[in-house]
Amino acid sequence: MKIEEIVFATHNTNKLKEIQQMMPVHIRLKSLSDIGCHDEIIEDALTIEGNAKIKADFVYEKYGIACFADDTGLEVEALNGAPGVQTARYAGEEKNATKNMKKLLLELQDKSNRKAHFKTVIHFKSATTSKSFTGICKGHILETLRGEKGFGYDPIFQPENYNLSFAEMDAETKNEISHRALAFKQFLSFLRA
Ligand code: IMP
Repeated sequence: MKIEEIVFATHNTNKLKEIQQMMPVHIRLKSLSDIGCHDEIIEDALTIEGNAKIKADFVYEKYGIACFADDTGLEVEALNGAPGVQTARYAGEEKNATKNMKKLLLELQDKSNRKAHFKTVIHFKSATTSKSFTGICKGHILETLRGEKGFGYDPIFQPENYNLSFAEMDAETKNEISHRALAFKQFLSFLRA
């Protein structure tokens, strides 16, 4: 069966527009608001994969429309994968990026291993499919904040093979190499196949 309509489990219209442009032309993308879904979906899984699956499954089960959801975390080697599922609220429920970065820099103060990676998982659920796509961007955590662009942990994350932090890169370069872009590329080739 050919899919014509997919829900992207997000309320973020910027994310939706960006992905709509990459979609095969026959697929219409809808946001959670477009389908009237204003439920608070509790993301209480212990893994990034699990949280992406919770969101996609919730929408598919309640609305019966094919759906994908994304979830991202930053995993730091010397912290055994933390902040991981806690990435957004590492320093508290207010999800403050500056406080999150400050906490991470403090945790890494005495650590020589600063290797880390961002991981995005997209989970797709339809009548016939339940499948995850993972994108990983390797790099390390800087000792101080660098750059003003981007969001979240961008000023303290430097991707492998670059001398710039994510926050010093232009959006085009970041969007070519980012964890999110890599996960979406895989998902889109699956949809096109
Ligand atoms: P989400 O699953 O896309 O909401 O991402 C969870 C959290 O990860 C965000 O609140 C940010 O703190 C962080 N994050 C995700 N993607 C990026 C990125 O590309 N750069 C920096 N931080 C990110």
